[in-house]
Amino acid sequence: MDKIKMTTPLVEMDGDEMTRILWKLIKDELLTPYIDLKTEYYDLGLEHRNETDDKVTFDSAYATKKYGVAVKCATITPNAARVEEYNLKEMWKSPNGTIRAILDGTVFRAPIKVKGIEPCVKNWEQPITIARHAYGDVYKASEMKVPGPGKVELVYTAEDGSTESVLVHEFDAPGIVQGMHNLNGSIESFARSCFNYALDTKQTLWFASKDTISKKYDHTFKDIFQEIFDADYKEKFDAAGIEYFYTLIDDAVARVMKSKGGFIWACKNYDGDVMSDMLSSAFGSLAMMTSVLVSPEGYYEYEAAHGTVQRHYYKYLKGEETSTNPVATIFAWTGALRKRGEMDNIPELGAFADKLEKATIDTIEGGQMTKDLALITEMKTVKVLNTENFIKAIRTTLDNL
Ligand code: NAP
Ligand code: MG
Repeated sequence: MDKIKMTTPLVEMDGDEMTRILWKLIKDELLTPYIDLKTEYYDLGLEHRNETDDKVTFDSAYATKKYGVAVKCATITPNAARVEEYNLKEMWKSPNGTIRAILDGTVFRAPIKVKGIEPCVKNWEQPITIARHAYGDVYKASEMKVPGPGKVELVYTAEDGSTESVLVHEFDAPGIVQGMHNLNGSIESFARSCFNYALDTKQTLWFASKDTISKKYDHTFKDIFQEIFDADYKEKFDAAGIEYFYTLIDDAVARVMKSKGGFIWACKNYDGDVMSDMLSSAFGSLAMMTSVLVSPEGYYEYEAAHGTVQRHYYKYLKGEETSTNPVATIFAWTGALRKRGEMDNIPELGAFADKLEKATIDTIEGGQMTKDLALITEMKTVKVLNTENFIKAIRTTLDNL
């Protein structure tokens, strides 16, 4: 069989530790035998980030703007221990943070559903995708402990020196105070990314906040979403047969629990942080979660939601057997290949992505899986495979499809 040809390269961002091992196995066993893989390779492994003073991370993000689609391996975000372990020149910033800042994107996370690994919530028949606004609010807040009686105010000083102020509280005893912000531009980008992704995946979009209580702050989010929707997306949504609606966050939570799934839930930064962990654990496992960064201009960066699986890597280095789940990383590749195929009008790439996803799911549903899944499955007879043999089992399934 002839290999599938590509016209535009994918931006390939290699990473660290166990996921770097998975990366190579996936390419060798599941991709290059079938595709004339065309990528522009950026090594975001921590050693190379350190050698290039992190320039490689910036370059990979600019390349994503140039070509439109990237696929990223999990990477180490350095902390003090990593600075020592890798003898780093600096505690380099999180690559995901750097890439997100350059692409100005929103992260969409969705579980990969498999029969035999059922969500805790019985009525969730389809995945629920979370879109988390990744700028501002409590994550960029200023806080103060108020030592005793006194007045706290918010003061805005305009460029011309004029001021506007509002009373936060007249304290008559010690307490605490917090000031947070967001930017209309960031909220607009968030809204556009959500509307684009909803159209892309043909799923209804929900957005929720607490505008009844937060009449200026949360209400601005609600208004910006509605204005952009009415101006630029309403007709497209009608044509696609999907909906956008706004509701209160407490109503959204109640509805999510009773829903069948199959929609996108856009969340403010804090809600998204909390709710994405709830959804991923209720659906099964972080190793079965896909993650894609979508920019308002329509650039895409696909990755797995989990980290570099450091504990497994240290076992691997000692020559011990590992059973690391490659599914989310495989789906990062299939997502990117499918999108590349759409953009370049190469339907074979999309068809291959569908087939590889099916082979992966069929392999698990056939009872062959990694240890993390064996621990949570309801299947009676299960064969636990090590990392490499699981990927080889997927290849066998793929060749027989
Ligand atoms: P992690 O890599 O997500 O792993 C935490 C634990 O979750 C693992 O020890 C393992 O549990 C389980 N797990 C996660 N993915 C798995 C998989 N594919 N297959 C099987 N089990 C899996 O998180 P971490 O250990 O806290 O972080 C390690 C490094 O990853 C850190 O340096 C962090 O900075 C980085 N990180 C990167 C990203 C990213 O690039 N997107 C995201 C998060 C973290 P058991 O050990 O119990 O088997
Ligand atoms: Mg969290």
